[in-house]
Amino acid sequence: MRSSAALVSPPPCPAPDSGATGAPADGRAAGSVAPTVEATVERGPREVFCGLTGIIWLHRKIQDAFFLIVGSRTCAHLMQSAAGVMIFAEPRFATAILEERDLAGLADANDELDREVARLLERRPDIKLLFLVGSCPSEVIKLDLSRAAQRLSAAYAGRTRVLSYSGSGLDTTFTEGEDAALAALVPEMPAAAPDAASSLLVVGTLADVVEDQFARLFAALGIDSVQFLPSRSAEALPSVGPNTRVLLAQPFLAETARLLEKRGARRLPAPFPLGAEGTTLWLTAAAEAFGIDADTVERVTAPGRERARAALESHRSVLAGRRVFFFPDSQLEPALARVLSREMGMVPVEVATPYLHRGLMEPDLALLPEGTRLVEGQHVYEQLDRCRAARPDLTVCGLGLANPLEAEGLTTKWSIELVFTPIQGYEQAGDLAELFARPLLRDGLLKV
Ligand code: SF4
Repeated sequence: MRSSAALVSPPPCPAPDSGATGAPADGRAAGSVAPTVEATVERGPREVFCGLTGIIWLHRKIQDAFFLIVGSRTCAHLMQSAAGVMIFAEPRFATAILEERDLAGLADANDELDREVARLLERRPDIKLLFLVGSCPSEVIKLDLSRAAQRLSAAYAGRTRVLSYSGSGLDTTFTEGEDAALAALVPEMPAAAPDAASSLLVVGTLADVVEDQFARLFAALGIDSVQFLPSRSAEALPSVGPNTRVLLAQPFLAETARLLEKRGARRLPAPFPLGAEGTTLWLTAAAEAFGIDADTVERVTAPGRERARAALESHRSVLAGRRVFFFPDSQLEPALARVLSREMGMVPVEVATPYLHRGLMEPDLALLPEGTRLVEGQHVYEQLDRCRAARPDLTVCGLGLANPLEAEGLTTKWSIELVFTPIQGYEQAGDLAELFARPLLRDGLLKV
């Protein structure tokens, strides 16, 4: 096993008749519970990145953490090309490459891992949290990274905490990597005192600028104690206990949510904070849990809603009435389809998502247009057939499918951009709509 320096790298506007949430009056009140949307479960070949990809946004967020992938050259190349980073930038992730001797069992992979970690920590005293990230090769040779993490945590106690999780493509899709990383952090979170005042814990990686915007909104609402997971520093992990109220900022965190609930926290059901409506309902869920009155919510959210309305308006003319087809990728699909249909007037033809955690997604599902075809999982060939037959105006899919579909005359949007780009909250609503409008505008320009 060796670390290669070359492979080490740092990763609608509401309709005019909108109500207070910014949602159009479609006969279904925002926040009301619609009949359960039925989903077709599909199993077969799938086309999606593995969980290693989450490192690209996680390493930017937790500024004193380091992600050491224990994997192959393929893993290293995926990270290097997906992150698109400058080689001279200070890296916060790397790949310890399992070579043939390791894979054949001719070398003790644990000894080699210990040696690589020692070299890394000697060179990088700033690392306070080290994640050992499992991959397909490390799982195939049954390298037990959780035991390695325990051993290394004891060896570097007081200096660097060592945790592990799997980003293997054998059992994770790309956003599940974040879920696995945050789930590994939950047991490390300090216990909140049983008599502590209620606090709000926002869970899911948000760009720092978005996190700051939400922190200001919560403060304006009168919610004083707000923490974020992941925190910007691994040494400032938030506390958790029975008085913690959890608000998920991302829909792909089922295991993290389960572990937080196991530690006594209570999750607040809400649509995800995408678009004017989702952001308002998300903030309202927190406000209600902290006993904040509706007038205050209206006063605090009105300026943001109005800015979102103005930002979205210019994109509505491009998107309204256009048909959109989602391939399963990030688990953001139901929430995105909700924004596009209710706030931009688009028509979701098919909304597929890798996993449908109804407990987390029901508030978004309840706001999808009746009759939306909802699919959990993927049989990529059958889905491609349905997409070709439907000929949607816009297809949201992974990088591997986008170019072939473009060659067939379909307009596509790379779904990974929706995870890399800050799209949550009022101030980003216009950017979110623009991500979908841009390919349609580009097509219009290219047509002679
Ligand atoms: S973890 Fe598996 S799927 Fe992901 S890059 Fe490595 S080998 Fe490929």
